[in-house]
Amino acid sequence: MNAEIITIGEEIISGHTLDTNSAYIANKLSEIGIAVRYRVSVGDRVEDIEEAILTAWNRSAVTIATGGLGPTTDDITKKAICNAFERKLIFHDDLLKLLEDRFRSLHRKLPAVAQNQALQPQGADLLDNPIGSAPGILFQEDERCFVALPGVPSEMEAIISQSVLPYLRKRQGRGHIEIRRLRTTGITESELSEAIADLEPTQDHFRLAYLPGYQGVDLRLVCQASEEAEAIAKVDKLAEAIVGRVGAFIYTIGDQSISEVVGSLLTAAGKTVATAESCTGGLVAKMLTDVSGSSSYFLGSVVAYSNDVKHDVLKVPTELLQGYGAVSAQVAEAMATGIRILVSSDYGLSLTGVAGPTGGTPEKPVGLVYIGCAQASGVVSKKINLFGTRQRVRERSATMALDILRKTIIGR
Ligand code: AMP
Ligand code: MG
Repeated sequence: MNAEIITIGEEIISGHTLDTNSAYIANKLSEIGIAVRYRVSVGDRVEDIEEAILTAWNRSAVTIATGGLGPTTDDITKKAICNAFERKLIFHDDLLKLLEDRFRSLHRKLPAVAQNQALQPQGADLLDNPIGSAPGILFQEDERCFVALPGVPSEMEAIISQSVLPYLRKRQGRGHIEIRRLRTTGITESELSEAIADLEPTQDHFRLAYLPGYQGVDLRLVCQASEEAEAIAKVDKLAEAIVGRVGAFIYTIGDQSISEVVGSLLTAAGKTVATAESCTGGLVAKMLTDVSGSSSYFLGSVVAYSNDVKHDVLKVPTELLQGYGAVSAQVAEAMATGIRILVSSDYGLSLTGVAGPTGGTPEKPVGLVYIGCAQASGVVSKKINLFGTRQRVRERSATMALDILRKTIIGR
C-alpha cells in the first residue's frame, strides 16, 4: 500500500515553519508497513490544494493531508476537498453541540468563527479531535482513502494515533509487522555495518535499517509476515545474532533513551548519581533530568568550568591541575571522586575536555574528552577523541559518559 503526504500552508512552503508533520506521519506509516511514495507541500491557494488532492487520490492508495482546517479565512482545505470530491459543506448539529460543550467545560463561550467547524464535507467520516476543535476528515473507497487533519502537530498526532493508524491497520488486514529497535552508542555506522553486514536480511518483507543520530546509531529491524509468531521469531533470531556481535554497544532493545536506561538501572539498584561537568556545561545533568522521576536517583551537578571551581568546590588538588592540566585523566578522576564525596552519592560522573572549535593544542586537540566515573570501590576514567562541531563533541561525550555509567552499574 503506497501513501502520499500533503502538507498545506504558506508557512510551510515559505520555510517559516519546518514541516515536521510529514516526518512524523511517514515514520508512523512505516511502522505499520505502509511506504510513503510522495511528499507534497502546497500553499494556501484553493486551486493548488485541489490539484494536489486529486493527483494524490489518483496515484496513491493512502493520502494524508495536514493543515488549513482551522476556522479562520486562510483555512481553505475544506473548500478544496469539496471541489476535488464534488461535495457540498453540510452543517452538523451534533458537532456544534460537542464544540459548545467542550468550550463550556473550559468556562468559555464558543467564538462565532469556530462554528465553521460544524460545517463538514458531505459524505465524509469525521475523526474525533481529542484536543482541538477541527475534526479529521476521511473519505474512503475500496482501493483508496483520503484523510485531512489539522496542521497543529499535537492535534495531528492525537488523531493519527487515536483514529488513523487503527483504521489503516484494519484496512491493511493481512499479516503482522514486528518492529524492534536496537540502540547503540560508541560505535560508528560503518563499524557496525562491518560487524554485522553478513547478517542483513535481503528480502523485501524483512529489513534492517541503520539510523545514525547524534547520540548513536539505532538499528531498526522490521519483519512483515502473515503470522505474528513467524514475524516475531525472525526478528528474535536476527536481534540475537546482532547482540552476539555488537552487544557491548547496545544500551537498550526498545525505545528508551540512554538517560532512561541509566535511570531504570539506578532505581533498580537503589543507587544515586551526581555529575561534575566542565566541557559539557551541565548537559549530562540536563539529560538525566529529562526523565521524569529522576529526582529519586539524581542528586545534583557542579558545572566546574574554571580551575578555581574544580579546586575549591570539587577539591581537585592544585598539583593535578598544574601537573597534568585540566583536561587529563587525573583531573577527570579527581572531579568524579570530588562530586561523589561532596554530595554523598553512590556514583560520581565527570567530564573534562576540549569542545572546540578554539582551545585545541597538538597534545590536547579539539574533541579530546576525559570521562571519570567514581564509586565506593574506586574511580576509573576513559579518554575519548571525537570529531565535529562544539555541539557534536558535547552531545557525544555526554552520551558516552552516560554509557560509561551504565556499564559501571551493570559491572561491565
Ligand atoms: P493550520 O492547521 O494550517 O492552521 O496550522 C496551524 C499551525 O500548525 C501552523 O501555524 C503551524 O505552526 C503548524 N503546522 C501546520 N502545518 C505544519 C507542518 N506540516 N509541520 C509542522 N507544523 C505545522
Ligand atoms: Mg494554515
